[in-house]
Amino acid sequence: MLSLLTDLFKRQTETPFHLLLSEYNKTRPQKQNFSLCYAPFKALYFGHRGLVTACCYNRLQSLGRWPQNSISEIWNGPMANELREELKKNSLQKGCDACAIQLEAKNFSGFKAAQFDMSPLNANGFPSVFEFELDNTCNLECIMCSPQFSSSIANRMGIKKHAPVYNGQFVTQLEEFIPHLHEAKFYGGEPFMIPIYYDIWDKIVAINPNCHILVQTNATQLNTRIKDILEKGRFYFNISLDSLEKDNYEKIRVNADFDRVMENINYLHQYAKRKNTLFEISVCPIKNNWHEIPRFIEYGNENNIGIYCHTVFHPKHLSLQTITVDEKRTILETYKSVKFKDAVTEIQKRNLRHFRGLINQIESIEDGVEENPFQNWEDLYAWLTEYPSQTDPSLTMQSSKFVSHFKQAVSQMNLENDYRLPQRISKRDFEGQFKMLIMLEKERICEMLENAAHH
Ligand code: SF4
Repeated sequence: MLSLLTDLFKRQTETPFHLLLSEYNKTRPQKQNFSLCYAPFKALYFGHRGLVTACCYNRLQSLGRWPQNSISEIWNGPMANELREELKKNSLQKGCDACAIQLEAKNFSGFKAAQFDMSPLNANGFPSVFEFELDNTCNLECIMCSPQFSSSIANRMGIKKHAPVYNGQFVTQLEEFIPHLHEAKFYGGEPFMIPIYYDIWDKIVAINPNCHILVQTNATQLNTRIKDILEKGRFYFNISLDSLEKDNYEKIRVNADFDRVMENINYLHQYAKRKNTLFEISVCPIKNNWHEIPRFIEYGNENNIGIYCHTVFHPKHLSLQTITVDEKRTILETYKSVKFKDAVTEIQKRNLRHFRGLINQIESIEDGVEENPFQNWEDLYAWLTEYPSQTDPSLTMQSSKFVSHFKQAVSQMNLENDYRLPQRISKRDFEGQFKMLIMLEKERICEMLENAAHH
């Protein structure tokens, strides 16, 4: 598939791929690994507006669309099989660019694909993991978030909410799959504010009460309804927390109250201990909080809480992927000078591995990455219009048709107010693929933009 936006992240790795793979495979639990990643063999991810993929990292290789395709058709469909075959060949070419970056950086501990090694492979052919990201309802406006993932940001920007795609019929279709699920993961928006999740949780509790229900939450919500459903099921938590300092936290997680969140975190942590379920914190290391990551690891080790560091690519102006050479040196010197206490428990050992993975990830950052080439749509249109005259004037006619289609697609998808999306697009992507791009019809541009918007 034409991967317009993720080519930005393609890097030349210094280690040949087969050696990287062999190094990675040594860290994996199974002795026999028939696939580089098990996501399409074990999981489905249900994204906004009906997009279904193998995982939340790969939003480019669509496996189908709900409700046009049933869940069963998607799971057994040709696109899912195509991705399976690709990964069996150890190829990350079908939309797995984000994983490719982590692998090339030898960030094996943060490698998304590695998470699927831990999930069971059902002998009856049913998926064992479902990931749900059905709606963007959220009370926060975090600085690294976008209108696609926060209804509050969308409201502020005057972007109209789309009619919900997932409904009672979707919940009914899930019934066939729930008995075979080992884990169901819920993302948002803020999951505890998304009404259809309560319907799905009720079904899971009734049909498969041992299923692990993982909620990635900002921990701002805690009320009687939430406490009731928590008591009925086995809930696991992944808490999004980007700072342990009140001021910094509230600057990053706009609208949240740090003290209230820490109280809720304490409640959820006690619940997890009582029910013997998982309780982890995930941090988005960005330019505003990189200095706090060692403190997070210490906090995790003091409280025996797993700390997971995401690799943040967007928005570029906050991403560590666009740090300067001096910033990179400072971060690495700071991180490498930290002396942690010896790790005793598995969680503490894993936290230290995650921290080393983050160091690897930062070491792999290319120097001089282009920062914010397009500030807004107008910048992008202007550049697209001028580009052929500077390179190949014979493309001018097709190019102007492409720009016109591109503008129509942006308008049709109501993306004009999304100022972050053009910032995700790299000139280098266009430069490398311009001749192919200008052949695209409007529908294909819409599909590409939609995938990019969800990436
Ligand atoms: S390799 Fe990574 S991006 Fe691709 S399906 Fe697996 S987890 Fe998803």
